[in-house]
Amino acid sequence: MKAFWKHFLFNLFIISLVFFLFTILIIRELEKHDKALTEERLLTEANLLREVLKSPITQGKKEEIKFLVSEVGKKIEIRITVIDKDGVVIGDSEEDPARMENHAKRPEVIDAISRGSGKSLRYSTTVKKDMFYVALPVKDQTGEIKAIVRTALPLSFPEKVFSPVKLKIIYLGLILTAFALFLSLASSRALTKSLDKTIKLSEEIAKGSFNVSIPISDKKGEIGKLNLALSRMAKKLDELFKQVSLEKTQLETVLSTMSEGVMVVRGDGKITLINSALKDMLGIKDGWIEKPYWEILRIREIMELVENVIKKQFAEKKEIAVLYPTERYFLASAIPLNSVEKEAIFVIFDITEFKRLERIKADIVANVSHELRTPLTAIKGYIETLEEGAYENPEERNHFLSIIKRHTNRLINIVSDLLLLSEIERKSAPWGEEPKAAIEDVDFQEVVYSSLEALKSRVEEKSLHVSLNIEDGLPKYKGDRFLLEQMLINLIDNAVKYTPERGTIGVQVNQSDSHFGIEVFDSGVGIPKEHLPRIFERFYRADKTRSRKLGGTGLGLSIVKHVVIMHGGEIKVESEVGKGSKFIITLPV
Ligand code: ADP
Repeated sequence: MKAFWKHFLFNLFIISLVFFLFTILIIRELEKHDKALTEERLLTEANLLREVLKSPITQGKKEEIKFLVSEVGKKIEIRITVIDKDGVVIGDSEEDPARMENHAKRPEVIDAISRGSGKSLRYSTTVKKDMFYVALPVKDQTGEIKAIVRTALPLSFPEKVFSPVKLKIIYLGLILTAFALFLSLASSRALTKSLDKTIKLSEEIAKGSFNVSIPISDKKGEIGKLNLALSRMAKKLDELFKQVSLEKTQLETVLSTMSEGVMVVRGDGKITLINSALKDMLGIKDGWIEKPYWEILRIREIMELVENVIKKQFAEKKEIAVLYPTERYFLASAIPLNSVEKEAIFVIFDITEFKRLERIKADIVANVSHELRTPLTAIKGYIETLEEGAYENPEERNHFLSIIKRHTNRLINIVSDLLLLSEIERKSAPWGEEPKAAIEDVDFQEVVYSSLEALKSRVEEKSLHVSLNIEDGLPKYKGDRFLLEQMLINLIDNAVKYTPERGTIGVQVNQSDSHFGIEVFDSGVGIPKEHLPRIFERFYRADKTRSRKLGGTGLGLSIVKHVVIMHGGEIKVESEVGKGSKFIITLPV
């Protein structure tokens, strides 16, 4: 049932009850009053009659009594009865005394004889009505009771219930009830209207829409206050939710853009959060949420770490190496989030690349030391030989000094190549980005000629045939001129070095819509197939003795590759032992 009807019916019940009780009380009071008035009148009339009828009664004049009783009764509209001391009715204003039974046993008569007055309220069999009787004795001079005078009136109740006064009271009561009901109706309306707002507000809040604006007219009543408090609460919740969702979005953005893998695991082992970096790192597919970690993580060491941290609630950091299917390294750190839920957060770094670089660094240091030690040991050896006496012999001295000079040049070559390499790396952009070359207009024809010029004497020494094929009207290339020249010098220098006398070396440059093509070839010794994949590594030599003898540092091709990569290009090599080699470079326009 709606609150309106409940409230209204309750009021209706209370008002009707009050009206009913009030009416009954008033009527009762009126009846009491009515009875007292009747009694008083009957007593007054009985006293008067006693005086009027005293002499006929004492003289025994029955006919006169009869006559007087009948006449006076009609006039004063009261029933009058005269009864002798034995109870025989002598006269009655409404009945024939002969037909009336003995009245000696009537209570008012008994009381009048014994106590001097009597009254009674009872049903009259004679007039068939509820009657009020008052009886008084009539005495002679000696004080002997001669008769009893009785006056009687029918009780006004119930005929007079609806007397004009009572009716007025009932009407007034009804009007007041109607007014009270109207007020109750209005108050029920106002109450249910406010309650409707409360319900609407609560429903909106329950649906999750906190930005509710319901006009509240009654701000002072309890329900109005409740509605006001509810809408304030909704507003506060709205603000809080907005803040929380903003923070959530920020956190999600941070988590999704992080390169570190993040995972949160509850005390029961169920996963509540995994970011995209971790998914990529460990190849986790969707459907991980609320799944136990041992079903999702496949790496035993990570699982052990998770188990350990959840159990012991201690922060832990661990380096993990995974060898299968590919060699990978992770640095996992775990921190317990709260000791009640036993939640823990795991941050996992993929340090495979870092490890690789670390190894390369260590290799480079080892290689550089090794490369430097060889000429240094030789120099030291020859100096000692000179000290031991060879210095005295001019021929030996010159010979050893020229060897020392050669090794010193070698050292200088290695150091300058290393410096050039580090220069290229210095120009490189930060991690992950391709190195950026200095941008300037480069005329390849000019660069090829100046590179050949630098090696001219050695080409001539070996009587090499030089084949040049440079496309006419070649446009300018945007790149780093110095480095591109170094690249060509290194390639042509190798071609000269590894080609026997009277052999052929050549350079070819062409251009298409998308790239510049540069080829440096020779008819030299060639490179065995097994060495081809590694010749671009630092200090890698296909033929160590030959390279050293020819003054090679093992860094030339490494520099070439770096310059190519720096310009966003690619390098390939084709070679056949005994026939020659061809280095093919493509540089994007
Ligand atoms: P190096 O200073 O020893 O020449 P590079 O890095 O320039 O070092 O070359 C690496 C190795 O590749 C050389 O030691 C050589 O064995 C081989 N190589 C390079 N260019 C040629 C070529 N044109 N013909 C034959 N072998 C070559």
